[in-house]
Amino acid sequence: MVVPCYKEEAVLPETSKRLKAKLGALMEAGKIGPDSRVMFVNDGSSDRTWEIIARLHEEDRLFSGVNLSRNRGHQNALLAGMTTAVRYADMIVSMDADLQDDVNAIDAMIDAYHAGYDVVYGVRSSRRTDSAFKRLTAEGFYHLMHAMGVDLVFNHADYRLMSKRAVEGLLQFNESNIFLRGIVPQIGYPSTTVEYERARRFAGESKYPLKKMIAFAMDGITSFSIKPLRLIVFLGAAVFVLSLAMLVWSLVRRFTGHTVSGWASLMFSIWMLGGLQLLSLGVIGEYVGKIYSEAKHRPRFIIERVLDDHLDSDKQNDRNGD
Ligand code: UDP
Ligand code: MG
Repeated sequence: MVVPCYKEEAVLPETSKRLKAKLGALMEAGKIGPDSRVMFVNDGSSDRTWEIIARLHEEDRLFSGVNLSRNRGHQNALLAGMTTAVRYADMIVSMDADLQDDVNAIDAMIDAYHAGYDVVYGVRSSRRTDSAFKRLTAEGFYHLMHAMGVDLVFNHADYRLMSKRAVEGLLQFNESNIFLRGIVPQIGYPSTTVEYERARRFAGESKYPLKKMIAFAMDGITSFSIKPLRLIVFLGAAVFVLSLAMLVWSLVRRFTGHTVSGWASLMFSIWMLGGLQLLSLGVIGEYVGKIYSEAKHRPRFIIERVLDDHLDSDKQNDRNGD
């Protein structure tokens, strides 16, 4: 299991307890190997998250830890954990640390894995526990992505099981702006979904404020769709046709002697055209910016330390994020 953690000191004790019980039961039932692990990835937290992970590892080898050199965001933290775990794992379940994802859905995911599926998406059956605002923005996000032509699994976040070969496939996508929900369906292989009820955050507050959600949505769209660029072309064409009509109209006004009265329409045109141009430049800028950051090929994350008895501990400061 790979669990990204950013400032999660309030939930880690409970999360580790529940995961230990869950994995214990699954081992007992013979559904997973006895040397399965829960890998917590500390995403550069400023609180005691890493100390807690290190202590869990000391007390019980079921828990392993990956410490990133700084905060790199949820998606990169997840990827860092999967990159590390895939070295010995046959299947990886990724889950948030805050216990919003129902751990009991893991059983069905593993059954699906044994039935031959490589990717099992956890899909929340309702959003009753989310605030109305979160629900509205989150569902709006899926609709927007769909309208932009991005292939997403509706109401699936990053709670999913992936087989070794699916994760290895994922790691071949080496873009730096990683948006896992968009990429995983691109990997292919047989996939299915498992429904679960999404609970409230166990403790602490959301690490995804509106600003991060908007950035996330923008990233998702600009990484997978060039529709916004195409919309600009249509917008430009429409405005051009409109301006021809305006030309005819102003000539008519000119020859009927009403020229001074054009102030309102003139002002309106200036503002509207200025706005449209700025908007279009902004959209193009988004893509240019993306090309810029992709062209640099920077590592997506840098692992500072790995605590895991499956992996040789002398291979520290491993730079395998690029
Ligand atoms: N997270 C992370 N790095 C970040 C922000 C969040 O690793 O920069 C982790 C966080 O610890 C949690 C998961 O990503 O395990 C999802 O975050 P959160 O629950 O705050 O988001 P929400 O459920 O509110 O969308
Ligand atoms: Mg959460």
